[in-house]
Amino acid sequence: MQMFNYKALPINVHFGRGRAKEVHSILNEYNFRSVMIITTPEQEADGQKLAEQLGNLCVSVYPKAVMHVPVEVAEQAILEAERLNVDCCLAIGGGSTIGLAKAIALKTALPIVAIPTTYAGSEMTTVYGMTENRLKTTGKDIKVLPKVVIYDPELTLTLPAKISACSGMNAMAHAVEALYAQDKNPIISLMALDSIRALKDALPAIVQDPTDMAAREKATYGAWLAGICLGSVGMAIHHKICHTLGGTYNLPHAEAHAITLAYSVHYNRNADVAAMTQLAQALGGTSHEQVGQLIYELNQKLNISMALKDIGLPEEGPQTVAKIVCDSPYYNPRAYDYDELEQLMQRAYLGLPPN
Ligand code: NAD
Repeated sequence: MQMFNYKALPINVHFGRGRAKEVHSILNEYNFRSVMIITTPEQEADGQKLAEQLGNLCVSVYPKAVMHVPVEVAEQAILEAERLNVDCCLAIGGGSTIGLAKAIALKTALPIVAIPTTYAGSEMTTVYGMTENRLKTTGKDIKVLPKVVIYDPELTLTLPAKISACSGMNAMAHAVEALYAQDKNPIISLMALDSIRALKDALPAIVQDPTDMAAREKATYGAWLAGICLGSVGMAIHHKICHTLGGTYNLPHAEAHAITLAYSVHYNRNADVAAMTQLAQALGGTSHEQVGQLIYELNQKLNISMALKDIGLPEEGPQTVAKIVCDSPYYNPRAYDYDELEQLMQRAYLGLPPN
């Protein structure tokens, strides 16, 4: 076995159906007394419902989270948290909502309690992101790591099938890249494989029946593990491609991850054969050569968009993305080859199987 380092992140996780009903007692347990609930405009009603449940523990519902945390939105939210003198931000929603809570925490060091309602995984990481003049910058800071995370699969029942599928594949991408991370380690690899198995089983079941509670529970479990992977080890070529697709072309985050994953793993299929064989097995296959095709077929089962052109990538996108990725690469177990990457991005643009 190779040498490795392992560092666990200090987060208290409360997991299970109906756990959101315990928020009042959980907040009491941690001595939070004046809480600002953060949501997107679309989930304001969920925030209000939670506020009723919390009674005088909640001082405000702040329903202004939007995708990619624009700096102006963050500044307003920070002012509001300071004005109300709150002692905790309670984020209920997906990565956008948790992202706004992180922006507040970065400036104020206020603790975050996160109640994720998608599968994106931000709640388990020290990573924050903000957008200014259409440029997204990210950083890492332990201040933004939620103190408490409450996973209640019942809250994901309202997430539409298509968004659930893409969000779940976004989670799977974290787990997949953890398998061949520069700083991979045996514990994270175990979690990654269990995450992939859980998501592979749960997502098609959710697409068939979004009210399938057992599948929702399994997907939430897979997403939790994937979030730990994302928070614990470095990501590689796939995350670099998706950050470029989001940053340069503003493509929808989860869908871009879902479509691109098949091509990223195909590119890496021979790079870390042991990891890729494990990935193939977790996806129901046998050989590292199959990984791209297995993800591609899973996406077909999920009825999601299969082509980057259908989610907004312009025709020149494949060349530009390949160039940006090669010019400022993340670590990857395999060297960056512009021609091969460009050819794969062309196939992803058209939605053709990776080969
Ligand atoms: P999102 O948070 O933008 O949510 C998408 C939409 O779905 C929103 O309108 C939201 O209100 C709605 N929604 C969420 N849960 C719902 C539910 N259960 N029922 C009905 N509607 C629901 O999407 P996301 O994919 O979770 O997050 C994407 C953002 O998170 C991106 O900005 C991405 O960069 C960021 N992110 C950050 C990290 C990190 O570690 N910092 C990790 C993953 C993602």
